Amino acid sequence: MKVLAFLFVALFVFVYGSHEYLEGSKVYDVKPMTKKHLLVASSVEQIPGVDVWQRAHVLGRIARVLVLKESLDQFELVLKSANIPFEVVIEDPKSVIEAEIKQQKMARMNRLNGTISFTSYNRYDEINAYLDVLAEKYPTRVTVETLGTTEEGREIKVIKISSNGGNNPNKPIIVSDAGVHAREWIAPATALYMITKLVEDITERDVADNVDWFIIPLINPDGYEYTHTDDRMWRKTRTMATSTECPGVDANRNYDFKWSNIGNFSKPCSILFSGPSAFSEVESQVIRNLINDNKSRVKAYLTIHSYGKYFMYPYAYDGSSPPNVEELISLGNQVASTIDALAAPGSEKYVVTNSADAMKYTSPGSSGDWAMGAGGVNLSYVIELPPKSEEPGFDLPPSDIEQVVKETWGGILVLARYVMNKSI
Ligand SMILES: [Zn+2]
Repeated sequence: MKVLAFLFVALFVFVYGSHEYLEGSKVYDVKPMTKKHLLVASSVEQIPGVDVWQRAHVLGRIARVLVLKESLDQFELVLKSANIPFEVVIEDPKSVIEAEIKQQKMARMNRLNGTISFTSYNRYDEINAYLDVLAEKYPTRVTVETLGTTEEGREIKVIKISSNGGNNPNKPIIVSDAGVHAREWIAPATALYMITKLVEDITERDVADNVDWFIIPLINPDGYEYTHTDDRMWRKTRTMATSTECPGVDANRNYDFKWSNIGNFSKPCSILFSGPSAFSEVESQVIRNLINDNKSRVKAYLTIHSYGKYFMYPYAYDGSSPPNVEELISLGNQVASTIDALAAPGSEKYVVTNSADAMKYTSPGSSGDWAMGAGGVNLSYVIELPPKSEEPGFDLPPSDIEQVVKETWGGILVLARYVMNKSI
């Protein structure tokens, strides 16, 4: 146990500032074949030095897991003892991740201020400049507000899109956020595409005009910038209040709905640290305030993550079902099948599931649970966008961004039209 504790601290000391800690690490695909396998596969997350990129929520799906050098033996031993099939899919994650960072830096040099790209990942300053340009160019449709300022002084902005200046109290609102987990770069890209389709390139006039949209394309800007400048695998915020050695909180475990500080959730060095108290992070406060301030009108909440191709509904804290679970599943299936139909041929299909469900992996204090359980939003979903399975790396290569954001928008339209028709 002492050795484990040492590795745990060592991992996060090394994390701070470079990718050296990835030297000798490997990325595995794990394929649970039975329910027991699923439980064991979910338990490996408790091993220090193991970072689950994609979860196997249901049988037939793979889990993709990064394992640091020091934990390789223990990780393999656990899987072998349970007879769970696994294989190494990335032999040298450090070089793959460093190449990805280099590619991003090159792409950034070629972009113009005030514009965004769907062939590379945009940075914080570019995203905020784009929102400000839209507010200036489309003053009757767009309002941009700063909802909060982060530990490192960055602004968390919301873009409010409305055909009538947001002045119709009977119009439904859809709230969406992206990037709470800093390393999930495809999430902000997808939110930006939604914004583009609702403001600059409107081809679905009905949803642009009959729904008001509050979109926060980059809810954790400190973490996101850190993934571009220092550690590609960073997931949390960058608050230093609890620990300067292990900064940051998983803002998606920080909501005051079944918030937990047991086990990994209590450890500042864990990537699942839930914070010193519920709503300690501005990154979670902004969603609470936005939904509470518009309580009667917010009809759907969608939080965008990657990866795994899951469309998930509450409750994540214990796997229990909300009263309208049938509606959530039925609408979820329509969203998922629409995205599947637009996806590249041969792609894996979306799975619609409870956020905890088959693998009993529970996530207390999440935004999706809070929105429904405390915020009173009846349609609350988490989307886990697709990975690119043929290519190594954490996120999609830039050449895949366009396909993913377009197919996902197709699914979001189904959600939006449902909300629209229900409110008439
Ligand atoms: Zn996430």
